[in-house]
Amino acid sequence: MKIAVLPGDGIGTEIVAEALRVLEALDLSFETETALVGGAAYEAHGHPLPESTLKLAKEADAMLFGAVGDWKYDKLERSLRPEQAILGLRKNLGLFANFRPAICYEQLVDASSLKPELIAGLDILIIRELTGDIYFGQPRGRRTAVDGHFPGADEAFDTMRYSRPEVERIAHVAFQAARKRNKRVTSVDKANVLETFQFWKDIVTEVGKEYPDVELDHMYVDNAAMQLVKAPKKFDVVVTGNMFGDILSDEAAMLTGSIGMLPSASLNSSNQGLYEPSHGSAPDIAGKGVANPLATILSAAMMLRFSLNQPEAADRIESAVKHVLAQGLRTADIWSAGTTKVGTREMGDAVVAAITKKTITG
Ligand code: NAD
Repeated sequence: MKIAVLPGDGIGTEIVAEALRVLEALDLSFETETALVGGAAYEAHGHPLPESTLKLAKEADAMLFGAVGDWKYDKLERSLRPEQAILGLRKNLGLFANFRPAICYEQLVDASSLKPELIAGLDILIIRELTGDIYFGQPRGRRTAVDGHFPGADEAFDTMRYSRPEVERIAHVAFQAARKRNKRVTSVDKANVLETFQFWKDIVTEVGKEYPDVELDHMYVDNAAMQLVKAPKKFDVVVTGNMFGDILSDEAAMLTGSIGMLPSASLNSSNQGLYEPSHGSAPDIAGKGVANPLATILSAAMMLRFSLNQPEAADRIESAVKHVLAQGLRTADIWSAGTTKVGTREMGDAVVAAITKKTITG
């Protein structure tokens, strides 16, 4: 097992260090190799995704990624900005399936802006198609309009498109994920208006017939956005296209109220994956030792489960995280009166201690 460790920028280095300590506490045998990515790679090599980093990523079974970006790079030309490293990794490794669980831990129920009864026990999984849709469709650009409401005016355009294999493979991913959960898939589309999403809906329905044990329903994206805040627990697995998934997965993340808790995985068809917290590089708190490392630690658990075939080790990490929350330990972003505020390192220490104790007691 080889893990490419890509800490990136800002709090990335602090939180990835804790996730690595947790992995080491499990006593598994794996090799790690660290490389620069994002702004740190731009500073050292003049590019956010240098050839050497890409080579390492391709060779590894999985990538443990921190976060990239800093406001100081906002004026760089687009192709050199730190965020391009993530797009480059997705594209080069064919990471088409993005998993974003939104779980509300019992002890953090008050962190949500929703009423506790709406989100207590929430455990949903948003699966977003990551390499197609309007974000990548060609042609795109700017031109002078020849028709429409204002012929002769400047206009901009993008192309929404999906091919049959792209929809089929993400649908299979969703149904297979649902089989390991509560066996329900909601496919989110805009079939009432968009040809692309009528096509999407037809194909997901066809694929669904291969999974008679999984219940499938369809929902328009506007309704899905409403239902996520009205009755989020009614979902199990939500599968949708790139743009709708981008928006809905952030909405779902916020239901739990604690961005520092949410892991994510992006997988290709060989189960090679990029594992990263759902949040960014948080330049406002970088270097202060206060960032919450739990999203990254939970991303490492997803890595063990999906790419490294170590489900028991993944369970141990997830139980350890629940244990430290039950102990009342909180980083500043999830702190509330009556709990104990700890820093990044102390939170990592507590998870390591919970794992080590489990090993001793069997
Ligand atoms: P952000 O997620 O970095 O931060 C938003 C807020 O959440 C900040 O107040 C931050 O302090 C807080 N926060 C985030 N993670 C936290 C953690 N683990 N513990 C405690 N608090 C945490 O989003 P932003 O401020 O919009 O973006 C900052 C930089 O990150 C930008 O350069 C942006 O482009 C980049 N970014 C990168 C990724 C990625 O690497 N995948 C994702 C989103 C944003």
